[in-house]
Amino acid sequence: MLFSEIISRKKEGKSLSFKEIEFLVDGYTKGLIPDYQMSAFLMAVYFQGMKEKETLYLTRAFLKSGEVIDLRGIPGIKVDKHSTGGVGDKTTLVLAPLIAAAGLTVAKLSGWGLGYTGGTLDKLTSIPNFKVNLSKDEFIEQVRRIKLAIASPGANLVPADKKIYALRDVTATVDSIPLIAASVMSKKIAGGADCILLDVKVGQGAFMKDRTSALSLAKTMLFIGEKFKKKTHTLITEMNQPLGFAVGNALEVKEAIAALSGKGPQDLEELTLLLGSYLLKLGGRVRKIKEGGKILKGILLSGEAKTKFKQMIGAQGGNSEVVDNPSLLPQAKFKEELQSEESGYLRRIDAEVVGRSALILGAGRNKLGDKVDPAVGIVLRRKLGDKVKKKDPLAVIYANDKGRLKQARDCLASAYKTCS
Ligand code: URA
Repeated sequence: MLFSEIISRKKEGKSLSFKEIEFLVDGYTKGLIPDYQMSAFLMAVYFQGMKEKETLYLTRAFLKSGEVIDLRGIPGIKVDKHSTGGVGDKTTLVLAPLIAAAGLTVAKLSGWGLGYTGGTLDKLTSIPNFKVNLSKDEFIEQVRRIKLAIASPGANLVPADKKIYALRDVTATVDSIPLIAASVMSKKIAGGADCILLDVKVGQGAFMKDRTSALSLAKTMLFIGEKFKKKTHTLITEMNQPLGFAVGNALEVKEAIAALSGKGPQDLEELTLLLGSYLLKLGGRVRKIKEGGKILKGILLSGEAKTKFKQMIGAQGGNSEVVDNPSLLPQAKFKEELQSEESGYLRRIDAEVVGRSALILGAGRNKLGDKVDPAVGIVLRRKLGDKVKKKDPLAVIYANDKGRLKQARDCLASAYKTCS
């Protein structure tokens, strides 16, 4: 088999066999295929797509590139959740401890930021000393001991996804249904949970901009989950404006901590309770979705979810004091308000533009090759539909560099539209 022939077949829109896909994925993971050939393949997939069956093969090939975590020795139902990526989406930080406090076991492998969307691992590493790189044994041991772990897939888990994920980020091939589905599902299956809940984001700030493509992504992932005999459920949720108010790693951790005490933004809490209710149902804790919300809200208000989050931070080497004292999180040197240029109602806060503004500040693994700055970001002061007067604060920008602050400010201003 020749790599170039497989690329050519995909370019022509032909379906690939498992052997062809495995050959390509295996060759790339082992360094036998250069980035330029894999990039060409990814672009061919981007334009030609893949049939569900091919996407299943791609997921299988990703999984075959590494190990799979076996959680069968741990009693009880193990659950996992994944979002397809959004701006300000810190739901996992609230949901995972909440669900663990509700008695289910949460074993979660997360990702780093992709494109303009934030990653759970970037957020968690803004907590001083928090370790996301757990070995397979450490991950299993922690899940057994405290019923909760959120970690990066270790070096031996889906290494193919790790390499291809990074390549997609710099080749404009992120927003492709088969590539997202294989990336997400390979991590979920390698993570070993029995039940998988998928939050498919749709809107301006999501990779899927319209409902048709979000539905198609959800169906593809459901198909893969079922083929691997996992109890899988998908929800399609809105991502037009950022979720909550904070966008940026430490700023989002701070907001998640507030939400863990039932004092978070309403949209974040609503989404967390909704996803949590589905997880409780998948895990057999409730019979009906509507029973879940009340139970989970009670756990938030009791402080148990916050205590669980603290326990996880401690178990992963981080400074759990940040939960009671968020000022211990990294702080930016400069802060500046963005004010409304006109009076009226906020008609648009483009989440993608807000995400890109945070990238300019250094909040993500961006194409400038920067290290992630955990302290920088944006905190919205107003949300969609709010009434504003001229000069009212729309957002506060947190920066560590004045030049970037100015650039981010100009970018952020373009995210807003007001109507009278
Ligand atoms: N999350 C992932 O893990 N992979 C993607 O491709 C997109 C979101």
